[in-house]
Amino acid sequence: MINFLNLKDINARYRSELIEACSKVIDSGWYISGKEVAAFESEFASYCGVRHCVGVANGLDALTLTIRAWKVLGLLKEGDEVIVPANTYIASILAVTENNLVPVLVEPEEFSFNLGAEGIANAVTDRTKMILPVHLYGRICNMPAIMDVANKYGLLVLEDSAQSHGAMIAGKKAGNWGHASAFSFYPGKNLGALGDAGAVTTDNETLADTIRALGNYGSKVKYNNLYKGVNSRLDEMQAAMLRVKLRHLDDDTAIRRAVASAYISGIKNEALQLPLVSGTDAKVCSEHVWHLFVIRSKKRQALIQHLKERGVETLIHYPIPPHKQQAYAEWGDLQLAITERIHAEVISLPISQTMTNEEIELVVHACNSFQCES
Ligand SMILES: *Cc1c(COP(=O)(O)O)cnc(C)c1O
Repeated sequence: MINFLNLKDINARYRSELIEACSKVIDSGWYISGKEVAAFESEFASYCGVRHCVGVANGLDALTLTIRAWKVLGLLKEGDEVIVPANTYIASILAVTENNLVPVLVEPEEFSFNLGAEGIANAVTDRTKMILPVHLYGRICNMPAIMDVANKYGLLVLEDSAQSHGAMIAGKKAGNWGHASAFSFYPGKNLGALGDAGAVTTDNETLADTIRALGNYGSKVKYNNLYKGVNSRLDEMQAAMLRVKLRHLDDDTAIRRAVASAYISGIKNEALQLPLVSGTDAKVCSEHVWHLFVIRSKKRQALIQHLKERGVETLIHYPIPPHKQQAYAEWGDLQLAITERIHAEVISLPISQTMTNEEIELVVHACNSFQCES
């Protein structure tokens, strides 16, 4: 069976480096807010090309605390509208409602799965204060165009870069376009810790300081509390693991691009719709870091079964759109045709930096032998 993702194999490649880093933390006797976190923050900020990085406990907190910090700083208030993609992982939207702001769900561009500048511009009202573009599946949004819309209407931009570490457009990486960007280092992400972890990147020092305080009980100076904060910190152990993995991120991404490239050139089946990439060679397409390789089929259930019988495990990202979730029952009447079509047709093929050529070929053959008898 080709597993959808084998985290054990992924981390085994760096086992000795991880263990060495782990021992260093154990022997340091210092486990929260120390040298490893500071070093990772500075290394990840420089990887993204920004001035500041603030480690937090996970990706959802990175989003939630950034919005909260903008409220503290007087740039957002409860009831403000935030433009979010209707087609996203629910965390992007939870961060908005947790802060009592109003998510305005906008249909994605069908070809990129992402928010487009035009859809955003059409959704702007007097109450719109922020855009939350999600670089879904590892593909960075058209950020130059989105920033033009944001600047035109004076809107804050918070990127959700949880799936797109290292993705780049117009020479700038995800995490370096918006006024801030949220990252997740959940183990299955392209840059994955060995537990929960997250971070915010930004060029704005005041914002970085405020997020750091909010995630540390609202405190900048010990036992001196400015805000009713929370405890959301990146810990020394995960930071040490991430420093090892960050050193290999670009090599890992190159392998993922090679797998995507092999799929794109090898899979030829009218019944399957492959991801569209700008430029012809997925290997050199820097916009995409292939967190997921998502194809579409009108006969999804039959395709899943067919692949499974040939030893290929697949997953669906995501089976239920946010507006159809019980958690957002208030949106039960919303109809979002593109988003619903995407959710009904997508299926994710295995893709990772540990796949062998044999496994890639097996997936290609399994896809090509699928016949859609309608
Ligand atoms: C994973 C993910 C998150 C949340 O990250 P966690 O670390 O799991 O909290 C947010 N947004 C998107 C798009 C994600 O894929």
